[in-house]
Amino acid sequence: MSKIPLTIRETQEKLLKKEFSATELVDSYLSQIKKHNNEYNIYLTVSDDKAYEDAKRIDKTISELGNKSVREFPLLGVGVGYKDIFLTKDIRTTASSKVLESYIPAYSATSVRRMERAGVICLGKLNCDAWAHGSSGENSDFGPTLNPWNKEYTPGGSSSGSGGALAANMALITTGTDTCGSIRLPANYCNVVSLKTTYGAVSRYGVIAMASSLDTVGPLGRTVEDAETAFYVIKGEDGLDGTVKNSKYESKSSRFRIGIPKEFFVEGLDVDIKKTIDEAVKVLGKEGIEFAEISLPSTKYGISVYYIIQPAEVSSNLGRFDGIRYGNYREVFGDEAKRRIMLGTYVLSAGYYDAYYLKAMKVRSKIVSEVDEAFQKVDALIAPVAPTPPFKIGEKASDPLKMYLTDVYAATANLCGIPSIALPSGFNKNGLPLGFQLMGPRFSEQNLLNLGKIYHKAIGYKPSVAF
Ligand code: GLN
Repeated sequence: MSKIPLTIRETQEKLLKKEFSATELVDSYLSQIKKHNNEYNIYLTVSDDKAYEDAKRIDKTISELGNKSVREFPLLGVGVGYKDIFLTKDIRTTASSKVLESYIPAYSATSVRRMERAGVICLGKLNCDAWAHGSSGENSDFGPTLNPWNKEYTPGGSSSGSGGALAANMALITTGTDTCGSIRLPANYCNVVSLKTTYGAVSRYGVIAMASSLDTVGPLGRTVEDAETAFYVIKGEDGLDGTVKNSKYESKSSRFRIGIPKEFFVEGLDVDIKKTIDEAVKVLGKEGIEFAEISLPSTKYGISVYYIIQPAEVSSNLGRFDGIRYGNYREVFGDEAKRRIMLGTYVLSAGYYDAYYLKAMKVRSKIVSEVDEAFQKVDALIAPVAPTPPFKIGEKASDPLKMYLTDVYAATANLCGIPSIALPSGFNKNGLPLGFQLMGPRFSEQNLLNLGKIYHKAIGYKPSVAF
């Protein structure tokens, strides 16, 4: 086959027309991975055998069911890479930590099982910051992922390989987790679409826990339509994650209004990102969407609150990796995990609980009520994903505080449990990706997806890859 198609629809049309078989498609993906993976460090494990097994089954399904097969299997023939924090039965799962270097799960995460049932081709497991701690991918015990658009830059983290694989044409859909931006940032830094889902929209069963009151699962894809298809495959109750509900969101107004929180557009925001958002406001305005400036005064505390609650939850979740039950007991946690365990233990300790953890919980409630109140007036919020475009490998790695500040715009959605779509908008003059996010009330994913489609249609967005 000549080129690997960039969207689900194109892939499936070509498979159904027999322009290539699923087996040939796997050949192409694996040769792309073999050609570039050593340099870009995107996949930690490539599941060749499983990919060919999947392909064989897909080819058989197509010959038996023809055009009907895509209706029954919405992700038929879709090459998928999973962030290496999703358990995959019989395929090594490391959380990018040496502690789990040789761990082979006995079962798969719900989202993985649902994608398999929907007909995907499993290509392998994607690099990320160890335990999903980080914003650049540089905390992986297996080395950093490089940004396919410019290898001197990070692809964003923690789901670094999930963004990287799409930019490098090494997958059609990838999965990520977002505890404070880890799906949105790599999407934004790799010029792809992502959906950070509502807390409780997608099961986390079989996903290695980071901070349980903030963790969410979601898809990354090159188009809004692709992310949408993957979202509907993985969402909904499974009886295994008690936080998941099948709630339906009712859109309350016919005239759509988007709030521009003035606190998000302050000093420190990159001028090109500001310009991109100004233009998006104009573009969406022409499509009949109204905008209103609003104020969310407590959101400026979001990042501080996050870096108290998150390490507290991390310190308790990582307690199970004690080397007794499984994992390499000779290996130790990396510096970042140790830092979080210490911070978390500190803020939960008897003498400091009230001053830090309890206070952070109170401020979190305040942020949630401000945002809920805003959603009485507007149907969505527009915001940057990060204060700057991609930064260089090594630029922030030795300064944890600087790295943590990358997440200032991410925290609101996680603290409030609300969904957010990250949309690419083009490139700056240095060829680095730009974009923004749209947040909405809990379970309003479909509104955000619709807005994304309107925006991309209006700007004539075309999916693309770096090579
Ligand atoms: N960058 C954030 C952190 O380091 C969030 C990571 C995530 O969303 N998993 O904690």
